[in-house]
Amino acid sequence: MSTVNLDFAEELKAFSQDTALECFNCGTCTAICPLGQDLVSDNFPRRMIRYVQVGARESILENANELWKCLHCGLCTHTCPRQADPGELILGLKRFVIANFRKV
Ligand code: SF4
Ligand code: SF4
Repeated sequence: MSTVNLDFAEELKAFSQDTALECFNCGTCTAICPLGQDLVSDNFPRRMIRYVQVGARESILENANELWKCLHCGLCTHTCPRQADPGELILGLKRFVIANFRKV
């Protein structure tokens, strides 16, 4: 079971802009994302943003392979009705994962 890391949002500031709390989980980014059906049905990229919001640091690391399927097409960012910038958050999570794999 994943634990909640209350310092995760602060840790991520070194890798990405701090916009995850702008997300109100509407699902527009998931609906527009051109990735394969397996990821779309599993709420990508919204689920990753939700992990950030709830401090599920380990869930990001456990599902890191999904981040590398992102095409960086920008559609999620362009259609997000808030200022969450999901595309940039995904990029920042990749930087976070790389930094943590280097520590292993
Ligand atoms: S990142 Fe934007 S589009 Fe995606 S669920 Fe959150 S508010 Fe909606
Ligand atoms: S940038 Fe990545 S997460 Fe966003 S819509 Fe494109 S493929 Fe999906």
